[in-house]
Amino acid sequence: MKEKFSRIYRKLFEFYGKQYWWPGEGLEIVVGAVLVQQTNWKNVEKALEKLRVVNCLSIDCLKNISVKELEQLIRSTGYYNIKAKRLQNLMRLLAIKPHPSRNELLEVNGVGPETADSILLYRFNEPVFVVDAYTFRIFRRLGIYEGESYADLQRLFMGNLQNKSQMFNEYHALIVRHAKNICLKTKPKCIECPLKDDCKY
Ligand code: SF4
Repeated sequence: MKEKFSRIYRKLFEFYGKQYWWPGEGLEIVVGAVLVQQTNWKNVEKALEKLRVVNCLSIDCLKNISVKELEQLIRSTGYYNIKAKRLQNLMRLLAIKPHPSRNELLEVNGVGPETADSILLYRFNEPVFVVDAYTFRIFRRLGIYEGESYADLQRLFMGNLQNKSQMFNEYHALIVRHAKNICLKTKPKCIECPLKDDCKY
């Protein structure tokens, strides 16, 4: 299995090249990880820009701004009333714990495993593999994982790859790229796919 995980990575890397992920830096990564829930990055970027303009991309401002004002600033990302509360809860945690543990992040209402792991990997450079819907889709089609458990699929990656944050970062980015470009939800472009020899679809 180790060889298979490495081969898939190699083939994707050779095909797409380096991805230079994640967009943003510092606190923007944490804010973006919450705002990107159920939407795409373009909508997140609009909200981040509004927060930048009013100089509110700081823990202090996000924690203390009125929830109504915050809702308007992040409106482009959808579910803005829920996300505003989530963001403020998360900022309260970061104010007392600048580098929280996974469990502490998961205790914040609305922060699930994918959001927590994105924060740990992209903000704090911890070697944690981020699993998302694209990962389930591709690895199900490849015949590697049929289940629906985030923890089980994450364990498969982390047990079969070198425990390095840079590699986890790049692998996840390549999966996202592949799911958006070729392994589409409907009508995947299998003829063009660099993984077709490994695929059971
Ligand atoms: S061969 Fe088709 S289904 Fe399999 S990974 Fe490639 S695009 Fe997806």
